[in-house]
Amino acid sequence: MSLSGKTAIITGSNSGIGLGVARELAKAGANVVLNSFTDRDEDHALAAEISQQTGTSARYIKADMSKGEECRALVEQAGACDILVNNAGIQHVAPVDQFPVEKWDAIIAINMNSTFHTMAAALPMMRNAGWGRIVNIASAHGLTASPFKAAYVAAKHGVVGMTKTVALETAQEPITCNAICPGYVLTPLVEAQIPDTMKEYDMSREDVIKNVMLERQPSKEFATVEQLGGTAIFLCSDAAAQITGTTISVDGGWTAL
Ligand code: NAD
Repeated sequence: MSLSGKTAIITGSNSGIGLGVARELAKAGANVVLNSFTDRDEDHALAAEISQQTGTSARYIKADMSKGEECRALVEQAGACDILVNNAGIQHVAPVDQFPVEKWDAIIAINMNSTFHTMAAALPMMRNAGWGRIVNIASAHGLTASPFKAAYVAAKHGVVGMTKTVALETAQEPITCNAICPGYVLTPLVEAQIPDTMKEYDMSREDVIKNVMLERQPSKEFATVEQLGGTAIFLCSDAAAQITGTTISVDGGWTAL
């Protein structure tokens, strides 16, 4: 699959899944636009590294996905958007009656509302180009729930619903809109939690991974950022041209339970 000549914007892509997906899209030939809310030398260095490794053009554009106007400005500043990967996301865990209002607002804004704003800005560009692929990174929590994650579960279910609506609105155009629903993915953020959890439960690394983190993931293995990148590339391929308005779970069987 060659994505040569296509421009891909990946929100929240200076680490974790977003960065992994960006690397895979660049390897497949796409010119990638990385994003987060910071503007550090290392953010721009990531883009330079991807360009050097793949021979494609990679840029980093700062935009805060909690702000609607910055979401839209990101797409405008990129100048083209053939592939849009909505990935930026945060988490906060608390019972619903104790959930801090500012955390609720931030999760709904970053994990859900940003997807509305970037899609609204990108669709006219896709229509002009006569081709487009929207890949929303939802979650197993877009299909099922866990206690203490009210905002995250609400936002991810919202993303799945929005994905279906946009797919119907673009169904007769060469544009598709789908959501990927990862289970637990080994990102630096997750890796960093392992040592503390080992101490907390007095368990080995292997037991923490299998019996605590992957308790609900029947495969007992993390999904990888490369696998998510590969799934995104599949959704951009001609084979997936009639796949729209759906979710693809990459969750080791979590949602089959
Ligand atoms: P991560 O913390 O490594 O990545 C999140 C990214 O979003 C970072 O690049 C961060 O800078 C960016 N971001 C945060 N707030 C932002 C803002 N206001 N504006 C712009 N960018 C912002 O976490 P991750 O695990 O790679 O998660 C990426 C996405 O995948 C999230 O939407 C998350 O909900 C989803 N997801 C993760 C897992 C998992 O197990 N790691 C599972 C299912 C879904």
